[in-house]
Amino acid sequence: MTYLAVLVPFAALIAAIPLAWGWGLSWLDAGLAVGFYVVSMLGITVGFHRYFTHGAFRSGRALRISLAVAGSLAVQGPVTHWVADHRRHHAFADKDGDPHSPWRYGTSPAALVRGFWHAHLGWILERTLSDQQRYCPDLLADPDVMRVSRWFGWITFASFVLPAIIGGAVTGTFWGAVTAFFWAGLVRIALSHHVAWSTNSICHMVGERPWRVRDRSTNVWPLAILSMGESWHNLHHADPTSARHGVGRFEIDLSAETIALFEKLGWAWKVRWPRPERLENLRATKSAAS
Ligand SMILES: [Zn+2]
Ligand SMILES: [Zn+2]
Repeated sequence: MTYLAVLVPFAALIAAIPLAWGWGLSWLDAGLAVGFYVVSMLGITVGFHRYFTHGAFRSGRALRISLAVAGSLAVQGPVTHWVADHRRHHAFADKDGDPHSPWRYGTSPAALVRGFWHAHLGWILERTLSDQQRYCPDLLADPDVMRVSRWFGWITFASFVLPAIIGGAVTGTFWGAVTAFFWAGLVRIALSHHVAWSTNSICHMVGERPWRVRDRSTNVWPLAILSMGESWHNLHHADPTSARHGVGRFEIDLSAETIALFEKLGWAWKVRWPRPERLENLRATKSAAS
């Protein structure tokens, strides 16, 4: 059921691409969609998540502000809301108080369908805001972060409208603006929302659990690339402050590669890379044996 609910709309979207190609979708639209997707998604995964929520590395003011703006382009709420919700998620993962656990209603098939909906999207529609004084006083005390938080409405507007402006300017036609708005604005934001929400729903339901955790988080390899490495979610719950979530040899983690690049450029330091001895201690097989 979970896979169907996610895969069918996604397959429909893929099927629409060849139908639209040539008249309602161009290389420019595709390039803009990928560009905006990558920047806004890394803003969430590297910025809102690994940096602002978990402090996986340190950085200077320019990168800090850039990450806050890039993450806001993903239209998932201002950085302070996002971080407060996510810190609450870790504090109560899959227990009472977790803002988005798919296990909230129980373990029967009907309860899980309801839970999946709640974890994926329902929690946003019916939620009470997490207490920011309690969960992110560090961000409330940062004037730069608060400024970007207040800009959220304008950044959202830009995220929808910028692709249209670029599409219109490059093609010199109104139709060019319309198709860029559709693909690089609407479709890109919808897709990035579903991928991000899948970390809350799918990555707490199905998949592998090679690491020792007290919740139901899982690793889901099919989402690794689209989620920029966030779907190695079982390791993330085992070691939340780690800058790298995909620690296996074939576990692609584009967010970790981005942080490594920032480190090489001197923009990030004190990066919390996973240490082999620590990982050994976190293996699920080890806890079963001891
Ligand atoms: Zn989680
Ligand atoms: Zn986290």
